Amino acid sequence: MSVTESDLAELRALLGESGVMASEAALFTYEADALTLERRPPDAVALPRSTDEVCALVRWARARNLPVTPRGAGTGLAGGATTEQGGLSLSLNRMDQVLRVNETRMFAWVQPGLVNLWLSQQLAPKQLYFAPDPASQQVSTIGGNVATNAGGPHCLKYGVTFNHVLGAVVVLADGTAVTLGGEAPDSPGLDLLSVISGSEGTCAIVTEICVRLLPTPEGVKTLLFDFATVEDACRTVSRVIAGGIVPAAMEIMDRHTTTLVEEWLHIGLPTDAAAVLLIEVDGPAVTLEPQAERIAVIAREQNARSTRIAKDADERAQLWKGRKSAFGAYGRAASGFTIMDGVVPRTRLAEALANVYAFAAEKGLDAGNVFHAGDGNLHPHVLFDASSAKQQADALEVSHKILRMCIAYGGTISGEHGVGIEKRSMMSELFTEADLAVMERVRAAFDPDRRLNPGKILPGGSACGEARKGSFEAMRGFSASAASGSTEGPWI
Ligand SMILES: Cc1cc2nc3c(=O)[nH]c(=O)nc-3n(C[C@H](O)[C@H](O)[C@H](O)COP(=O)(O)OP(=O)(O)OC[C@H]3O[C@@H](n4cnc5c(N)ncnc54)[C@H](O)[C@@H]3O)c2cc1C
Repeated sequence: MSVTESDLAELRALLGESGVMASEAALFTYEADALTLERRPPDAVALPRSTDEVCALVRWARARNLPVTPRGAGTGLAGGATTEQGGLSLSLNRMDQVLRVNETRMFAWVQPGLVNLWLSQQLAPKQLYFAPDPASQQVSTIGGNVATNAGGPHCLKYGVTFNHVLGAVVVLADGTAVTLGGEAPDSPGLDLLSVISGSEGTCAIVTEICVRLLPTPEGVKTLLFDFATVEDACRTVSRVIAGGIVPAAMEIMDRHTTTLVEEWLHIGLPTDAAAVLLIEVDGPAVTLEPQAERIAVIAREQNARSTRIAKDADERAQLWKGRKSAFGAYGRAASGFTIMDGVVPRTRLAEALANVYAFAAEKGLDAGNVFHAGDGNLHPHVLFDASSAKQQADALEVSHKILRMCIAYGGTISGEHGVGIEKRSMMSELFTEADLAVMERVRAAFDPDRRLNPGKILPGGSACGEARKGSFEAMRGFSASAASGSTEGPWI
């Protein structure tokens, strides 16, 4: 499959000169997302500016049997935006406007390429904000957040992206634009917005989004505790919630992560602690002090060695910068690393972490964790030397073992990053053949030719056009063989 000079000329006629890129440098830039282990350049990059242009592009690609892979900022960690089967990388980056804000009804229509943080920055003077806050929020787009149903540190209290989306305009595989949901808090009829949310660009392309806005909390208090054992930190998390307090965020960084972040940022993190626990409470100002005191008592009961309370906005920002820079710190420390986002029940966090370290140690690799502890959403990372094929294979093996452990503990393989290419082979260890078959049928109802982001999410990697014909059967066969006894996976 390739795009000819005459194809490019047609694309330029649709989008203008600056709306199409096909140089070697451009294709290299778009060949992967943040899962750089998976690479495949697109045949061309298209940058539409409106829903109408997206419709025209999709119709154009359909007539040529070309795959279309939507792309936001490319910060996805599962290979979702990688053009695995070539075709068009459809970048939504130039669709980055806030279209309309309704302050009274507290919603806004935005374009999908709007960077997550920009929305809250623009709304700050109105005392409103958009709650989902993936750690990538300075870069990732709201369209990408919807397509992955992104979570973030504050999703413990406020819910994930899906809970903050009221409606969307989406472009279907035949180039038709439809509206799902709406501005009202609930929409009658089939809840197709739920299908699109988290579908990673496999069902439709999101071109306008109606997001729910929240009033900016009156106050916020950020506390940092450090512990001599990971178990004590994890137990504090469970006890705080069992004590009837739902903080806005509860994040744990283990020693491995804290040390790497501190070596980089020098923000005073205790590198001798086995774990640090960042807790944030927000809401009416009068409620904050009592909540913080109660949390500090619980943490001390669980052997917290010290308590640091951010004294002002700068110190709070510094603590959060430490947390949100963890992935960057791994990138500084090793030429390659894997990041999983498996979930375990909160009560099993400590034993899950012990297993992560043991699995990595068996292969002689360094591993650590930074995670949304309140949700039981681990982010185990395994460092490796990217020039060593053996280390890379070992790191992947460890990562899959970790995910099998999450399944066996009654958790799941992704809390927020999505499935993409990275975890699709594991879907049949989590779901039955019948579960997967119904997902494939729903997807086919949206995109019968599997042209939108082909091959992603479902095992068997349904392909675009002709190749797809055998894929459903292949998937069924794959599922059947992998499903036999797999939830008991040999993870230890
Ligand atoms: C440092 C770092 C920290 C991160 N922290 C978090 C975190 O806390 N929580 C979290 O959930 N994730 C996190 N992520 C992962 C990633 O940022 C999120 O998945 C994010 O939602 C992806 O947004 P994006 O704009 O980069 O989308 P992309 O990576 O470009 O795309 C992601 C997927 O969405 C599809 N897509 C993109 N735009 C559209 C659209 N308009 N219509 C249809 N499909 C579309 C793509 O095809 C792809 O499958 C992190 C990543 C990094 C690198």
